[in-house]
Amino acid sequence: MTDRSLIALKRRAERGKLFVVSAPSGSGKSTLVRMLLKVEPACALSISYTTRAPRSTEQEGVDYYFISRETFDQMISDGAFVEWAEVHGNRYGTSFHEIERLLEAGHDVLFDIDYQGARALKACYPEATLLLLLPPTMAELKRRLRKRGTDTAEVIERRWHAAWRELEHYGIFDFVVVNDNLQQALGELQSIYRAEQNLWWRRAYHVEMLLKEKPEAVEHD
Ligand code: ADP
Ligand code: 5GP
Repeated sequence: MTDRSLIALKRRAERGKLFVVSAPSGSGKSTLVRMLLKVEPACALSISYTTRAPRSTEQEGVDYYFISRETFDQMISDGAFVEWAEVHGNRYGTSFHEIERLLEAGHDVLFDIDYQGARALKACYPEATLLLLLPPTMAELKRRLRKRGTDTAEVIERRWHAAWRELEHYGIFDFVVVNDNLQQALGELQSIYRAEQNLWWRRAYHVEMLLKEKPEAVEHD
């Protein structure tokens, strides 16, 4: 293998991971994403753009970049989004700039996006790991949507019905985690996130360096 090929392998091995977590609304995704960010400091959340109004607990530039429909449409025309989708009546999008900014800073990038976004992101970044988080039952999903207390009854009903669409697309994901017990779900999320660094192509540089140590006299069977 040439030195240039080795450099390419090394760069590939060191590039941050792209880790997508999708879930029907109310499954506990934001809760678990926050917990994962605390225990995995190398990981940073990709902040999406949205036309949705901020909830009382949300902050500009922390939870989302909150923008008008006009600005969103302008960003679509400018080709600023890797992916964007209409979800529950609002638009949400991930910008190329956000991903590259976080990767260049040496982070792994965590995405909280829906199944349409997950599919589109994978088309652009095939190395991305896609994980689907699910509630233990649909009745529990409704209980959690109500418990969160941030949405009107109408919005809760719309989000609960939309959950089936998210479920129907489970085949596009690499992993499924059921969020029944929060700590157990976090453990599963974390082990999947960590296992990514052992994919063969992340270790290819290391293997090539071991191969270089082969003495001339050693022959294979
Ligand atoms: P999402 O981001 O998927 O819409 P949230 O993280 O906002 O969901 O969680 C919805 C509600 O469910 C919140 O009140 C949260 O505290 C609660 N919740 C999350 N995970 C669990 C769990 N494993 N058991 C019980 N309640 C949970
Ligand atoms: P919420 O309004 O509850 O914050 O998010 C609603 C849904 O939009 C969630 O399923 C969330 O994952 C998804 N979402 C958030 N940001 C993006 C994004 O940039 N792209 C896509 N496709 N979905 C997003």
